[in-house]
Amino acid sequence: MKRLVPAALSLCMSVALTAAGAAVGAGPAGALELPLITPVAKAPNPQLIPGDIFGPILAQGTGSPIDGSSSFVSGSSQRANNAVQDGWKRAYGSLPPQVQQAVPPQLRPAEAPLPPEVTVVPAHEPSPAPEPPKCFNCVAITYDDGPVPGTTEQLLDTLKRKNVHATFFMVGQNADAYPQLVRRVRDEGHTIGNHSYSHPDLAHQADGAIAAQFDDTSAALERAAGVHPVWARPPYGSYDGRVAAAAGARGMSLAVWSVDTADWQHRNTATTCSRAVEGAHEGSIILMHDIHQPTVDAAECVIDGLRAKGLRPVSLEEMFRHPEPGHVYDRDE
Ligand SMILES: [Zn+2]
Repeated sequence: MKRLVPAALSLCMSVALTAAGAAVGAGPAGALELPLITPVAKAPNPQLIPGDIFGPILAQGTGSPIDGSSSFVSGSSQRANNAVQDGWKRAYGSLPPQVQQAVPPQLRPAEAPLPPEVTVVPAHEPSPAPEPPKCFNCVAITYDDGPVPGTTEQLLDTLKRKNVHATFFMVGQNADAYPQLVRRVRDEGHTIGNHSYSHPDLAHQADGAIAAQFDDTSAALERAAGVHPVWARPPYGSYDGRVAAAAGARGMSLAVWSVDTADWQHRNTATTCSRAVEGAHEGSIILMHDIHQPTVDAAECVIDGLRAKGLRPVSLEEMFRHPEPGHVYDRDE
């Protein structure tokens, strides 16, 4: 833009002088009191034309007054003079305000309003597409392997009391066994994910078995609660390109984790809580299991601990508004 303005001004002046010259040459009209000005007969350099600034001058001008060959220039009638004036007025009106302002007052078309005061702001590159809004200070808390009566229900009670949404990666056979729990998890606003049907290591399964594990689970969730999961977690966090592709082909993203509480191993409430809280920062995905009593007992401590660090425990749906199917979310991103 900085480089274009002088060029625009130069062209503008050229137009102005041409118009003025035409007016003077037109004889007695004398609308412009000017010293003798030689009409500018040189056409603007075509290389300058493509810019937006120049388009309106040529598009809205009167035929071809700029090159001096127009009959308007050679004619002497009032009509021709008016046409030139009108053309210049339109051209002037289409100029950017800062260019208008640079035109000397005596060269501005009659009745042209004064250009507004403008501040020339340095041009910026076009802004990139806006980033999706980030889930500020969010940490996803996730529970695998349910739903089961007892522990899953106690966890739901705690989450409701603490006003927190979590993610439940359900095993298909448990969803089939306890469809009412799937519905309760759904009704209470949590994210429901696909954790395979019978919990095998998917990276060691044939393609057809991977597909069946995902499809049978999604069908179970659909039957139980009309849920179509968009998140999947491979059992043991074990996956390869085929597993990710199979999930992606079904509109699902893979969520692994960035904080492993190892709750299934130590089965200790205090340890589950401290590992979850100490390991978490914005964007973390915490792995726990809602089939273990000590884990469920730790839920309140985990939520309070995260909040004390200024973090917000959320579901994956809250953390990632538009997950990319087939993508593996496994780090703090
Ligand atoms: Zn699992």
